[in-house]
Amino acid sequence: MANLSYWERDTLLSSNFLIIGGGIVGLSAAAELKSKYPYASVRLLERGLLPTGASTKNAGFACFGSLTELLSDLAVMPENDVLLLVEDRLRGLELLRKRVGDAAMEYEALGGYELLSEKELYALEKLEATNALLRQVIKGAVYQQLPATAIRERGFNTNYFKGLVLNAYEGQLHTGRMMATLQDVVQKLGVSIHTGAEVDCLEDAGDAVWVHTNDLSKKHKIVFRAEKVLLCTNAFSKKFKPEWDLVPGRGQVLITEPVGGLAFKGAFHFQEGYFYFRNVGNRVLLGGGRHLAKDQEAVTDLEVTANIMGVLEELLSKHILHKNQVEIKIEQRWAGIMCFSQKEHTKKTILEFISPNVLAGVRLNGMGVAIGSRLAQRMVAML
Ligand SMILES: Cc1cc2nc3c(=O)[nH]c(=O)nc-3n(C[C@H](O)[C@H](O)[C@H](O)COP(=O)(O)OP(=O)(O)OC[C@H]3O[C@@H](n4cnc5c(N)ncnc54)[C@H](O)[C@@H]3O)c2cc1C
Repeated sequence: MANLSYWERDTLLSSNFLIIGGGIVGLSAAAELKSKYPYASVRLLERGLLPTGASTKNAGFACFGSLTELLSDLAVMPENDVLLLVEDRLRGLELLRKRVGDAAMEYEALGGYELLSEKELYALEKLEATNALLRQVIKGAVYQQLPATAIRERGFNTNYFKGLVLNAYEGQLHTGRMMATLQDVVQKLGVSIHTGAEVDCLEDAGDAVWVHTNDLSKKHKIVFRAEKVLLCTNAFSKKFKPEWDLVPGRGQVLITEPVGGLAFKGAFHFQEGYFYFRNVGNRVLLGGGRHLAKDQEAVTDLEVTANIMGVLEELLSKHILHKNQVEIKIEQRWAGIMCFSQKEHTKKTILEFISPNVLAGVRLNGMGVAIGSRLAQRMVAML
């Protein structure tokens, strides 16, 4: 136990609300709390010096589902659940854009695309029926097949990619600016953010929750006290409830140096969304491939691996920058950690009280840019 002063104990360790986890969900929950309870004290504890999960590591796709992703969901989920999920993603993105602002997070409505190989062309036959279904949540036609010339014009390999579908309602954003602005927003609202504060365990005493932490040096164990606690630790939540069905999923990403004459803009998916790429200015960001080594990638460490990076680099040169004559240089590689269910087709988030005063909102299923703000809104409504 740290040797604390009278002042620290008196003022710095207690709050009405305490949030654990400084990702999209934790920060959005902090903003929601402050707008609902402006006079309440809100404290947020984040274990890293920077958020250390998925929210600062993702690809920044503002998307709500490619055609083949929706078709594969429809094959295993009730139609209504699929529609509810699409709606959640849409509403979540609206909330995020309203809170952060398009200019601040460099939101670009460049559209979302899906590239189809020969074996995914079946999806085109179901395009109109899927548009008809989605009319229950979006007025216009969501998916639109583009001509084969559109694949060639963008410089992609037409021997591999045989179809291209546009979703004009999707966009992309600058993940770093989105998170930095969210942090600014909550700090201006008066939320205290503590970084380097890892929560070890929680004790719900009925009238208050005792939150036991370690600092980065692991030398100072400080105990915070709050009336209500929100647990927003996504893939890192098992220690708070070991029986939860949570499987971490590492997502590996690379970004190139600026590419001269880059022929495409926008956010692209292929192989049912298991691979994704986009432009970041004149750079190409490419990620995915977790499905090729499922066990290897079901981990919480942030290493990148040679096998996944090898696949990504090959796809980049053979299929995406296929027409580029000059050498492609990779500027940076990284990984972030998502959270899924063991049951492959469960896409439900976990939103539940784990004790009378501790509410958890975890398992974002790799869609947190889209649904994170909506989940946070639901959490605060449940308190
Ligand atoms: C490579 C990659 C690409 C992605 N691309 C997209 C995309 O394009 N579009 C999209 O919608 N989604 C995407 N996602 C998913 C999205 O980023 C996540 O779903 C979302 O960020 C989850 O937010 P979160 O706040 O729940 O969790 P996290 O961002 O993981 O935040 C949890 C936080 O809790 C902290 N924490 C954990 N344990 C403790 C503890 N004991 N004490 C204190 N703090 C703790 C962690 O350090 C972390 O900062 C992607 C994810 C990855 C990894």
